Amino acid sequence: MKCYFQGCLNDGLTKEHIPPKAFFPIGEKEQLLTIKSCKAHNNAKSKDDLYVLAQICMNVSPSNRAREIFIDKIKPQLDFNNSALRKKLVKDAVRFLDGSVKYQVDIKRFDDFFTALSCGIVYKSCGNSLPNHYDIYHLYPNFTSEQDANQIEREIFKVYADKPMDFMEFGKPNTENERIYTVEIFGIPGFQSSITIVHVFF
Ligand SMILES: [Zn+2]
Repeated sequence: MKCYFQGCLNDGLTKEHIPPKAFFPIGEKEQLLTIKSCKAHNNAKSKDDLYVLAQICMNVSPSNRAREIFIDKIKPQLDFNNSALRKKLVKDAVRFLDGSVKYQVDIKRFDDFFTALSCGIVYKSCGNSLPNHYDIYHLYPNFTSEQDANQIEREIFKVYADKPMDFMEFGKPNTENERIYTVEIFGIPGFQSSITIVHVFF
């Protein structure tokens, strides 16, 4: 079996979970999706997992679930390894006069994470990796103003609103941890169209 990553021709030697195992509490890991990865893409995939999870927890609307996950998964890691994760999270943070703090989001880390996750979801949906000629872009409604976020959502769903059903049946991987992660994929099977993947956490 080949590696899941776009354009990679290496054999998949290690088993990977998507989304990463670190996102799921004990007792909710059984149904995670697995893919095969070569060594290079295994390393590429996991380096920012905790950073992305921490930022997602910090940016979702108030949700006890996200708070629980932050306390369970992120808090114990903050001071490990010379506080590496804490330093990443507070980099360029701004403190306001009222005492509140705004944290910068490192979009490059997010893009790398979601490129890997999206490649994995495509592989899992159709058994093939994304062809090289596809360009991958990511939009983050949670990191934009509410107005822009609504605009993004409207644009995405407008594109698919009047498409025939077969346009929408690119595939649906069987994610069963829906309290934590759900995914929708739009596109024509066989890579005959653009593909839109909507990832939702919490
Ligand atoms: Zn690879």
